Amino acid sequence: MSDSGQKLPWYSGGLSFACIRCGNCCGGTPGYVWVSVPEIIQIAEHLRMEPSEFERLHVRRAERRRSLLEHENGDCEFLVRHADGKTGCRIHSVRPVQCRTWPFWKSNLDSRPAWKAAAKGCPGIGQGPHYPLPVIEAACAENGDLPL
Ligand code: SF4
Repeated sequence: MSDSGQKLPWYSGGLSFACIRCGNCCGGTPGYVWVSVPEIIQIAEHLRMEPSEFERLHVRRAERRRSLLEHENGDCEFLVRHADGKTGCRIHSVRPVQCRTWPFWKSNLDSRPAWKAAAKGCPGIGQGPHYPLPVIEAACAENGDLPL
């Protein structure tokens, strides 16, 4: 229990995570990388493109939202695979909130088993720096309500 009497979440002691750049979350299987209009404008600016041109070339509509395009193998169009097996992101500094807040998503934080299930696909979960509860909650809140 917290001082206010509220039940603390199972991750109240914080969680560890360090991306090892395996690329599992950004490619290999089809999925969605949700992107909002403000994010499209920011990414387009980063790539020195007009937002409308960026959207035409790199964005698709799905479920009333916008998602970045993928290659046929499921890799995000902005994923870079290096010869040493590591991966990078061509728009890392302006990547969408979905990417920035991984793995602190509501779905992963729902329960300890959900977190363990996410760790099966993401070897960075449980490694590296320890993130305290306020940081986790801020990331989760930021990612919580993706714009339609
Ligand atoms: S799956 Fe995890 S460790 Fe691999 S690139 Fe994504 S965040 Fe990093």
